[in-house]
Amino acid sequence: MTGTIFDIQKYSLHDGPGIRTLVFMKGCPMRCRWCSNPESQKTGVQVGYTQKNCIRCGKCAAVCPDRAIQGPDYGIIRERCTGCSKCAAVCPVQAKKMIGSQVTVEELMEIIAEDRLFYRNSGGGATIGGGEPALQSAFVNQLLKRCRQESISTCIETCAFAEAEQFEETIEYADLVLFDLKHMNSAKHKSLTGAGNEKILRNAYRLKKDQPVIFRVPLIPGLNDSFKNLEETVLFAAQFENAQRVELLPYHSLGESKYQWIGEDYELSGLQTYSEEQKQELSRWIADQNYPIEIKLV
Ligand code: SF4
Ligand code: SF4
Repeated sequence: MTGTIFDIQKYSLHDGPGIRTLVFMKGCPMRCRWCSNPESQKTGVQVGYTQKNCIRCGKCAAVCPDRAIQGPDYGIIRERCTGCSKCAAVCPVQAKKMIGSQVTVEELMEIIAEDRLFYRNSGGGATIGGGEPALQSAFVNQLLKRCRQESISTCIETCAFAEAEQFEETIEYADLVLFDLKHMNSAKHKSLTGAGNEKILRNAYRLKKDQPVIFRVPLIPGLNDSFKNLEETVLFAAQFENAQRVELLPYHSLGESKYQWIGEDYELSGLQTYSEEQKQELSRWIADQNYPIEIKLV
């Protein structure tokens, strides 16, 4: 069985406890306007182009079977590109580079298991994110099952926009679920991500009763960070006995340059990140809350 991934990051400290290896699955059913991994969204392999690295040798245009590379800048006409990877294979400076690769469970297990000692000493393990792992639920299920067989702790990071069966298969062997909640109002959720939130909220009830979950809210200035929405989110999360806390993740713009790389526009260009003063206001709001669940600004 193979899955399509677009990255592996080792020694991560931010997506689950301890030191972790992150596996990023390719493909996502949502289109969050602030997505910091836009290269994760399409399910198939695609080509990225870093124009500033191009030395204008023309090799890519010469091999492209679809005449998708044209002009003095050797830019890609995306509608023509079939993702054949011929341009990336001949580019001498990796200005054109494929995003995404097919891997087997055992290939990934070899990479994950290399850092077993770090996991043991730090309480870490493997975290599978994306993209959305549930789009490749059968593969993720087998990968996490193998991790458990090797006594490696497992974590899933999910937007939870998935059919019930896919979602349950994805989380079956997860020791911890990082569950994104982007907006409690379905119409607003749809305008921000392209999808309503009903399916997502229903999936929260499909977590196993003894399965730890951390609800995470990406805080986007002016889009989902009203105290009303935060209160509704915390109230929703507080009803689950298995919920460890709600984490608030302030917006950053680190993914912006990736949009150009894949030939797309970044809708939120120019949006300011939170100032120290705004973060302090958020911290004060958190301190004032009296819900039976921890709220943490990450
Ligand atoms: S991936 Fe293939 S079709 Fe797309 S630009 Fe490169 S050579 Fe052309
Ligand atoms: S092969 Fe690479 S360096 Fe040469 S023109 Fe194409 S993108 Fe530029």
